[in-house]
Amino acid sequence: MPPEAHLAVQGLNVQYGYAPPVLSDVCLQVPQGRIVALLGANGAGKTTLLRALSGLLPFHGGRITQGEVMLDGAPIGRVAPARLVRRGLAQVMEGRRIFAELTVEENLSVGAVTVRDRRKAEATQKSLLERFPALEGRLSGRAGYLSGGEQQMLAIARALMSSPSLLLLDEPSLGLAPRIVERIAGIVGELNSSGTSVLLVEQNAAMAMSVADYAYVMQTGRVLLHGEVSDLSDAPEVRDLYLGKR
Ligand code: ATP
Repeated sequence: MPPEAHLAVQGLNVQYGYAPPVLSDVCLQVPQGRIVALLGANGAGKTTLLRALSGLLPFHGGRITQGEVMLDGAPIGRVAPARLVRRGLAQVMEGRRIFAELTVEENLSVGAVTVRDRRKAEATQKSLLERFPALEGRLSGRAGYLSGGEQQMLAIARALMSSPSLLLLDEPSLGLAPRIVERIAGIVGELNSSGTSVLLVEQNAAMAMSVADYAYVMQTGRVLLHGEVSDLSDAPEVRDLYLGKR
């Protein structure tokens, strides 16, 4: 692994139960302070890869059968999710997964559950509300009453409550209006400018490639191709399948 790799995945195989592997020999890197996009059609294995990175795989009946995941040069393939959060990794799950019955503020508190210093959590919340002003006036309202775009902002803000150095985002633009998608792309760019490394899983390749430096394309559990975004956007597989150009 080169010294600058924040996250490195080496030869990863993942299986659910006794079914055939859904990830085979996946290798991927997120260099320190960069945005890497992970593209692929439905069922390619993107969410499974994120589960393997954030320690959530066992909760879905899956396991790493081969290979390793390294965070800051240390193996994390079998480390529990809460410990990974303490080590600077946070995930925004596909479909937002906010706690609809809880208030916006309670959702944010859940994101800070690993932060022992209450004052630090309060200061983080204050700065996040400046970044996500739509949430500020809704703190005591039920999260389930927020619009889809606001719920996505809340899901991102909740993940940021632990002040991660590496953020995994699973399809943050899914089902949202173009204006909100643009806003999310802007937020990803801002976060990255303040030093956060990002792994951005997207089916919206145009959005992902507008913010990422480097991209991987997965197909049926394997990395099909990868490269600098400037090179990949001209690759026929990406143009035809993901950017809708011919
Ligand atoms: P999408 O874009 O639709 O979310 P994806 O690229 O994220 O797709 P995954 O959700 O990782 O793909 O699914 C990869 C494969 O793993 C699929 O064949 C899926 O059916 C299977 N799979 C996912 N979760 C489980 C599970 N908990 N148990 C068994 N098989 C699963």
